Amino acid sequence: MGIMRFDLITIFPEFFSSVLAHGVLRRAIAAGLVEVQVHDLRAFAHDRHRTVDDRPFGGGEGMVLKPEPLAEAIEALGLPARTERDSAHEQVILLSAQGARFTQAVARDLADLERIVLICGRYEGVDERVNQLFCDRELSIGDYVLSGGELGAAVVIDATARLVPGVLGNEASSEFESFGPADPGAASGRDGPPRSTHGAGGILDYPHYTRPAEFRGLAVPEVLAQGDHAVIRRWRRQRALEKTLRNRPDLLAAASLAEEDRAFLRSLGWNG
Ligand code: SAH
Repeated sequence: MGIMRFDLITIFPEFFSSVLAHGVLRRAIAAGLVEVQVHDLRAFAHDRHRTVDDRPFGGGEGMVLKPEPLAEAIEALGLPARTERDSAHEQVILLSAQGARFTQAVARDLADLERIVLICGRYEGVDERVNQLFCDRELSIGDYVLSGGELGAAVVIDATARLVPGVLGNEASSEFESFGPADPGAASGRDGPPRSTHGAGGILDYPHYTRPAEFRGLAVPEVLAQGDHAVIRRWRRQRALEKTLRNRPDLLAAASLAEEDRAFLRSLGWNG
């Protein structure tokens, strides 16, 4: 069983204690499928005040994380500079508002690695030479500015760890979620009970219902209570398409859609 290791470099190591102590991530760690080590950046500062930041060259607001403690922290993990490493097995990632967008596709890529080092910025960010010398990727979790990389690192670990084989009980269960990879059989026609989720082919998941059958005057859609699997599958696909059109129409351009899907979307006014 391939175990995946994450190392976090942060000035707030305590931040991660609750993130790692709950749900899927906690179980993955307990089962030995995922290992997470948190490293205090200040341990690599050498002055009396354990200084990790300094004023920016060129002037301007705020402080910048100094390169020396970060470089030492990375090297203490046994990782050489980027050019001397095999990025197919281990990567150093800088969390940054200037990074490439972290998506489910990136999470799938990362889940194939053996080791990931995540660098959490603070203040105005990290001295760019750390990025240049050590980082394989610069990732942003969305188009907004956070006050630190810790939340971003937590997001990357959570989304990636659950894709490591064995972490989710059912091996297939991450394939059919929102943003799932293409699943040509998802639209219709597959025999057997419908899968629990059908957000395959790059669209969003369909809406879920559980008991009670009626809640505050709202009944569960009737189609879900009868046993016709093909009808349920089509209904779920249509709700997923509808929701994607309403909330994330941008996803439809790259989604893998059957002709039946397109016809349905056009009936809702989509002109893609
Ligand atoms: N001056 C920077 C923002 C610094 S915010 C800029 O305008 O781009 C401080 C730290 O928070 C960053 O170094 C980074 O590690 C983290 N951070 C902020 N926004 C983020 C985002 N959208 N995704 C990931 N990390 C982010």
